Amino acid sequence: MWSRWKLLNLGCRFINYKPWRWRSSTACDKALEYKIGEKIHGFTINQVTPLPELFLTAVKLNHDSTGAQYLHVAREDKNNLFSVQFRTTPMDSTGVPHILEHTVLCGSMKYPCRDPFFKMLNRSLATFMNAFTASDYTLYPFSTQNSKDFQNLLSVYLDAVFFPCLRELDFWQEGWRLEHENPTDPQSPLVFKGVVFNEMKGAFTDNERIFSQYLQNQLLPDHTYSVVSGGDPLSIPDLSWEQLKQFHATHYHPSNARFFTYGNLPLEQHLRQIHEEALSKFQRIESSTTVPAQKLWDIPREYHVTCGPDTFATDSTKQTTISVSFLLPDITDIFEAFTLNLLSSLLIGGPNSPFYKALIESGLGTDFSPEVGYNGYTREAYFSVGLQGIADKHMETVKNIITRTIDEVIEKGFEDNRVEALLHKIEIQMKHQSTSFGLALTSYIASCWNHEGDPTELLNLGKQVTQFRKCLKENPNFLQEKVKQYFKNNQHRLTLSMSPDEKYYEKQAQMETEKLKQKVDSLSMKDRQQIYEKGLELRTLQSKPQDASCLPALKVSDIERTISFTELDIALAADEIPVQYCAQPTNGVVYFRAFSSLNTLPEELRPYVPLFCSVLTKMGCGIYDYREQAQQIELKTGGMSVTPHVIPDDSHLDMYEQGVLFSSLCLDRNLSDMMHLWSEIFNNPHFEDEEHFKVLVKMTAQELSNGIPDSGHLYASIRASRTLTPAGDLQETFNGMDQVRLMKRIAETSDLKPILRKLPRIKKHLLNCDNMRCSVNAAPQQMSQAGKEIENFIKNLGRSKKERKSVRPHVIEKPDSKPVGGDFINCPQIIRKLITDPTFKPCQMKTHFLLPFPVNYVGECVRTVPYTDPDYASLRILARLMTAKFLHTEIREKGGAYGGGAKLSSNGIFTFYSYRDPNSIETLQCFEKAVNWAKSGSFTLEDIDEAKLSVFSVADAPVAPSDKGMDQFLYGLSDEMKQAHREQLFAVSHEQLINVSNKYLGIGQSTRGLAILGPDNVNIDKDPSWVIR
Ligand SMILES: [Zn+2]
Repeated sequence: MWSRWKLLNLGCRFINYKPWRWRSSTACDKALEYKIGEKIHGFTINQVTPLPELFLTAVKLNHDSTGAQYLHVAREDKNNLFSVQFRTTPMDSTGVPHILEHTVLCGSMKYPCRDPFFKMLNRSLATFMNAFTASDYTLYPFSTQNSKDFQNLLSVYLDAVFFPCLRELDFWQEGWRLEHENPTDPQSPLVFKGVVFNEMKGAFTDNERIFSQYLQNQLLPDHTYSVVSGGDPLSIPDLSWEQLKQFHATHYHPSNARFFTYGNLPLEQHLRQIHEEALSKFQRIESSTTVPAQKLWDIPREYHVTCGPDTFATDSTKQTTISVSFLLPDITDIFEAFTLNLLSSLLIGGPNSPFYKALIESGLGTDFSPEVGYNGYTREAYFSVGLQGIADKHMETVKNIITRTIDEVIEKGFEDNRVEALLHKIEIQMKHQSTSFGLALTSYIASCWNHEGDPTELLNLGKQVTQFRKCLKENPNFLQEKVKQYFKNNQHRLTLSMSPDEKYYEKQAQMETEKLKQKVDSLSMKDRQQIYEKGLELRTLQSKPQDASCLPALKVSDIERTISFTELDIALAADEIPVQYCAQPTNGVVYFRAFSSLNTLPEELRPYVPLFCSVLTKMGCGIYDYREQAQQIELKTGGMSVTPHVIPDDSHLDMYEQGVLFSSLCLDRNLSDMMHLWSEIFNNPHFEDEEHFKVLVKMTAQELSNGIPDSGHLYASIRASRTLTPAGDLQETFNGMDQVRLMKRIAETSDLKPILRKLPRIKKHLLNCDNMRCSVNAAPQQMSQAGKEIENFIKNLGRSKKERKSVRPHVIEKPDSKPVGGDFINCPQIIRKLITDPTFKPCQMKTHFLLPFPVNYVGECVRTVPYTDPDYASLRILARLMTAKFLHTEIREKGGAYGGGAKLSSNGIFTFYSYRDPNSIETLQCFEKAVNWAKSGSFTLEDIDEAKLSVFSVADAPVAPSDKGMDQFLYGLSDEMKQAHREQLFAVSHEQLINVSNKYLGIGQSTRGLAILGPDNVNIDKDPSWVIR
């Protein structure tokens, strides 16, 4: 994987804090006992810092003989994390760090089997496993809740990064190679192949990514930031195997490594294992990976690039992007970075910010340009602002607006309560807990630590907030002076513009052809012979059954047999609305949700529900206009969002619930303010401001269109399952390509009044308490207060005067099973109103969506059984088994796609999919072969156990206090039902797997649907059974 870390949060968003355990706490207290200078297993303790605000103790160490750096964060959290990070600073665009990241995972000395990460997925209960190549470092993190598993994974990770085999064939497979189009036919033409080669070709179809890449390359042109760390497809074929090995020797060395561990497991054990299995085998080297400071410019620069045309652009004449970016100081200056990060949020965040008002509301473009705001992922940070979706002729206007806005800010400054709202946001981010706090920490500190900044200092957010308040108090012009210094008077400034070229993909293809010709022309007869032989060798190797027995593994017997049940209470508010209460250690935060049904909504309004949801909290309400409303939401809550949902029934494929979920969180002290906001949004939402509506519509449409390169496989799957169940059509309407196209059409319309007039009509059917349920997750002592607030909210809510008739005639009322705990006898129940359609007949449908990208996203869906059916568990294991033992090899390793596999969704749809795939029809054939493979039963008991482990590692992923009880609330899945399903999963046998393969997946057994997103395809064109859109 290749990514530029993008954490939108300022501070740590994720905290997993269990107060009752903390009181008697062990992990943090124990860590406090370490003494500076103390030596443990080859390491020396340098620093011990308690950070009570985040409930952690940070311990810094150094490895004596190699100089490796180490940070341990002790915290009472079971979800322990390890990561190792190397500073990787390439000086060309061959993608060497990225290809290396892939190849070290092709086998190591102790574990000489390919793809240990992927195989460990089936042998471990890891809650996270991955590898990332950023611009200047490569990071390998994993997390798990099981201590035996932690040791296993640590052993695999250490061996992979320090002692990889790096065989030539691994380089061929993962990096690039010349190979015959058909490897068994030496007469077929030679082409470029390789996983990273294809991955990066895919990445460069994403216009936002192209823009971000050039922005960094041009703004920091003197050293490693001027190249593409992931690899430019045209430069990748210049990398040799020797260069790859050399890069490993100089960069993946302990002297260039930073280790990080997090959680409640003892530090000593980690240190011993890391020292014994890896570090003790190395001597210190002088690493020369430091990134020098960027030389500052005397005059601003400009640069222009081209990209592929966007077929979903709302206006084809407005596809230009322009931004102005300013170089900021070194990110290791922690307080300055904190200040500039806050300042950037003030400049661009939300409708009250000066750049939102000046740029977004100018109507010149669709949304901010990519990378807008503060970017702290390079040695020197930068701030960027601009617009996308503008006409070429408006480039100068946008530049002038940016200059003018900066002048205005220097003159006027910011309103006090905007600064307060931002500091409130940091407070809530520090309190809100997620299940992946360790991962959030490692990514939060990675860049700063990479350049020798102090990670402990960076985590001390409380100190930074205090210092910030002090600076503001001492100097009311503090922020304005920063704007003057870093924006107005900064000559190191880049204006970057990007516009589409109709022939972009054609030109890219032509350049690739030329590169290929150049390579092929230089081949001798002997080279050609070797290429043919190596191609066959690789194919043989890939087809050979793989022996993973060298890898450590947990057993099915290591999995907990039973889940722990969550206590829930249900009570009626205002004698009518069921409210689910879930008491949790939420650390001073209340989570409120409501679900409202769409059953009375007229058919023709349904496509507009997603738009209604996305604007509802952004148009103003009651006495607040949209700016004041945004201000209130920021000051009083941690966010209020609205999303449409299609919820499958657990026992009938032809039944579903349709509705809208309202979600929100706030600090305990702000609950009544937040509920007041919900009251106003429900009772007095504003739908009048056409200008502001236009802005929101454009942004939504742009976001959807930009999401296609990343989510193409999801769009393909939603489309493919559209005609298989009655809910499928609604799913496509809400979340599919139909929605993308509808939003594009709306954004193109000049008169939005007819659309705007639909919103109050939707409101009438949705924002009342005729068909609603609520839920609260909060600390036990907050519950009675929460109950009162919800009671008030419900009492104030509108009721329809006459009973509204459901539009669909077939509504079935179904009571939920009663929850565990609480008072069973008088406990009210949630009653769901499910939609059914007795006339529904599933049918086959094949759709090809034409995209201008050179890669495909393939989806094939089969209608199977609902959650409570005994076969559901077998199909779930089967999907995992097929992915691990068949599809991964065929689609990724042999086919060259970035990803592919099978999955079973909660709506009973079995999906085969591929992601950024050079093939399409061939991939569909692979899916068929996978079914035959499953039917033949040529898998072992061990394979089944591995699939079970992998399914359980997902099923048992930690759930944050904010999300406990949500399966019950939203989907009606009780803990008893989950436990029953769990027992079925344990019991799945070889015979059952063959049975379900025959019963559901064979051609003609069940109805299936197919969809491809991708370029024009002659084979599909010739086949009349495909619908081309
Ligand atoms: Zn990758």
